[in-house]
Amino acid sequence: MTVDPWSSANIDDNEIERLIKEFGIERVDDITRQKMLENRFIRRKIIFGHRSLGDIFKAIDSRNSWAVMSGIKPSGPFHLGTLTTALEIVEFQKLGARAYYCIADIESWEDNGIRYEEAEETAVDNLADILALGLDPDPEKAYIWRQSKEPIVKDVCFKVGRLVTQNMVNAIYGEKPFGLYLAALIQVGDIVLPQYRDGPQPTIVPVGIDQDPHIRLTRDLTRRYFSEEKYFLPGATYHRLLPGLDGSDKMSKRNPNSYFTFNEPIDSIEKKVKNALTGGRRNKKEQQELGGEPQNCMIYKILMYHFEPNDDKLKENFEKCVTGQLLCGACKKNAIEKVLAFIKDHEKKKAKLIEKARELLDIR
Ligand code: SF4
Repeated sequence: MTVDPWSSANIDDNEIERLIKEFGIERVDDITRQKMLENRFIRRKIIFGHRSLGDIFKAIDSRNSWAVMSGIKPSGPFHLGTLTTALEIVEFQKLGARAYYCIADIESWEDNGIRYEEAEETAVDNLADILALGLDPDPEKAYIWRQSKEPIVKDVCFKVGRLVTQNMVNAIYGEKPFGLYLAALIQVGDIVLPQYRDGPQPTIVPVGIDQDPHIRLTRDLTRRYFSEEKYFLPGATYHRLLPGLDGSDKMSKRNPNSYFTFNEPIDSIEKKVKNALTGGRRNKKEQQELGGEPQNCMIYKILMYHFEPNDDKLKENFEKCVTGQLLCGACKKNAIEKVLAFIKDHEKKKAKLIEKARELLDIR
């Protein structure tokens, strides 16, 4: 089974089961969940699988350092689909990880043909977004880099490249332009950077399940190239991807109604949430008799992922929906208020952080 990390197709539950079985992803069981209840994505079962979380628990118990690594491809403004990974890195940093955050401008060139200089303003904008979401840039707690300017990631790419064959990349990614294989090796550099730069330490990479091929490649090459250095095999957590707001498979730039960006006018965001697919019935009477289907509802999903911080309220929403006590109109109105309040607050915070982002990326 090959998963294409650059594709716009989502991965359904059957495929997730196959990935778990064929590639050894561990399930987040109740015991694991209990250990990380502070993490909203684990608590709400949005993160369903992992690799090597046990190393992180050991590091926490023995007060050793550990890392969380993530990044963003500066190919456009921050959007609803990018939010999950961004908030996950913030959550892990709050739990004590040093955060390593990469601006994947080599990937945006290889995948989208955006030159490094063109990507700079987007990179500043994207970084200001994640700072506004709570990433603490204090050098003691974070390290931020651009792939094109970071010698370590290029160094690792060349070093591990010697171990990579055409058959390997074909088996993992299928047939792709050479530049994407190169970008995948640069990502290996990103993921081992915390250990290469600051010494062996467990590292967790929060990703959507579609990014597992990069994690497998990195673990394989770390095992083979960095065993003498005693590097930990980089770990990962896996979340389910949010489908498109309009019910399409996945949020995709090709379909602007499937998501909203954080730079979009407020009325456009409002309209998209208003038009989101719900799990409601055909009419009020049916809804009251049969109840809605929150598991198939994008309004419920965006509240669960991002916009309803209170677990009890979320649960109450679910119960009222399935028992027909809640109607979609009122429910949507509440969701729209929450989304717009979040965006307005975010905009205010972000405006104050643009200069900081420029400084951190050394872009004037
Ligand atoms: S009541 Fe709310 S959660 Fe239930 S289906 Fe309608 S919009 Fe979705």
